[in-house]
Amino acid sequence: MSEPGPLDEDARARGREQALIARRARAAIKADLAQGRRKPGDVIAARLDDPVIGRMRVRDFLHALPGIGDARTDQIMADCQIADSRRMRGLGEHQERCLMSWVAEAVRPRGRLLVLSGPSGAGKSSVVTILRERHPEIAFSVSVTTRRPRPGEIDGVHYHFIDERTFDRMIDEGQLLEWAEFAGNRYGTPAAPVDDLLDAGRPVLLEIELQGARQVRQSAPEAVFVFLAPPSWETLVARLEGRRTEAPEVIAERLATAQVELAAETEFDLTVVNDVVARAADEIAGLLGVGTSAGPGA
Ligand code: 5GP
Repeated sequence: MSEPGPLDEDARARGREQALIARRARAAIKADLAQGRRKPGDVIAARLDDPVIGRMRVRDFLHALPGIGDARTDQIMADCQIADSRRMRGLGEHQERCLMSWVAEAVRPRGRLLVLSGPSGAGKSSVVTILRERHPEIAFSVSVTTRRPRPGEIDGVHYHFIDERTFDRMIDEGQLLEWAEFAGNRYGTPAAPVDDLLDAGRPVLLEIELQGARQVRQSAPEAVFVFLAPPSWETLVARLEGRRTEAPEVIAERLATAQVELAAETEFDLTVVNDVVARAADEIAGLLGVGTSAGPGA
């Protein structure tokens, strides 16, 4: 065998360079898929026209999609009867259709997270009650709290009522997206259910106080932060004092906290004034992208 001449060496160098360019181009497509800049269906559709996509392995394409890990990739490849080494350009008609339908089903855009905050007495829970009735498509995070249930509150629906030790354990184990102490009790948002709901494409609403909203701002800055304001200070006082469920010292503490919370309004993306509860609820539903059509309970 003869020694490789300078021409062969050149050809090899060019080959290496081309391979590098192709790898970079594939990496760019995968990054676009991962970050939602390109739709998976469009990439599949371009597989015969775009040589970079054509040479991409089907397995690598699937793996690049958000929310599709190893197990899901294996499942899709098996269901569509696609060989492990198959490249996009080599897909048969049936395989392409099968892949398209999986991708449409599996890759849902992540749901929108809305943080509803505002002073105690602004009417957050009334707004949430209406939203629950009218918009079953919205998921409401159920917080944990060390507060005792008020009459009519249901464990697992309004809150998970837990003891101090369980709350401590949840903090230690990093189970809470945020937590805060408020008027002598602790409240927190369990992280995993919120994450699962968002992954499933559901709009999620957190109804939390100011310190918690600030923590979520740090960990999920993409969320929409809404400040629910009472129409006036007098309305807030009347609402808090009208509650027969709290002792006078608790009401006084909540009023003091309300003043601090009112001052934080400018930290939020927008303010919704709770003049009429149903109207405020509609405005918030609109922000979650679920429309304002009245459903049951309207
Ligand atoms: P309440 O005792 O009136 O149900 O709630 C007191 C305050 O705690 C309200 O401002 C409510 O929005 C807030 N809150 C409820 N759940 C959570 C939570 O999980 N985290 C935080 N930070 N605040 C919460």
